[in-house]
Amino acid sequence: MVKHWDVVTIGNVSRNRYWGESEERAVRPVICTCTAIFGDDFVLVVDPSLEDRDRMAFELDRRTGLKLDDVGLVFLTHAHGDHWVGLPHFGPAEWLAAPSVAQGINGTGKLAKQVEPVEGRIRDSIDVVHTPGHTLDHHSLRFDCDGYSIVVAGDAVMNRDFWRERRGFFNSVDKELAGKTIERLWAFADIVVPGHDNYFLAQRRELGEQR
Ligand SMILES: [Zn+2]
Repeated sequence: MVKHWDVVTIGNVSRNRYWGESEERAVRPVICTCTAIFGDDFVLVVDPSLEDRDRMAFELDRRTGLKLDDVGLVFLTHAHGDHWVGLPHFGPAEWLAAPSVAQGINGTGKLAKQVEPVEGRIRDSIDVVHTPGHTLDHHSLRFDCDGYSIVVAGDAVMNRDFWRERRGFFNSVDKELAGKTIERLWAFADIVVPGHDNYFLAQRRELGEQR
């Protein structure tokens, strides 16, 4: 079971339409949201976000008290480079992703070891959920903790504004499907950890009634 979870790095998008920025080009370097999930006998990091090893180690320690080598599992939501740029820092961990995501990342030839395919559940406590639209093989994680249903969405949800409008990012391969995926997540998320911002309450009931 999941005992605890927390955000390691709060991500940001390279351009934010909700801040009045054009989507034509990047205005700042992108960082994805990286999350740590603590089970009874495992620690899993989702989407290791920082290219610099010392910086990744610093943020992990600052947010969780862990060293890089304490992490036993890493899960990657999709093959976009900003979501696995920090993967090599977690050398002793088992690297996991949905089968076609694993294949895509392994195919880059940039890594010293393989990302292993995973489907269904991780450690009998975290569901791997297909959330297509941003990419067709995008996968999010869902688990229960403290009575809440937590969705670590990756780029299925960029931030709270995209969630509210059920909108995919400018680079989504299928924007309509991205919107449908967000709609699906509304049904079972209490708390959403988006791909490029801090976590937020899904507030599904109140907002649902306003629709
Ligand atoms: Zn992405």
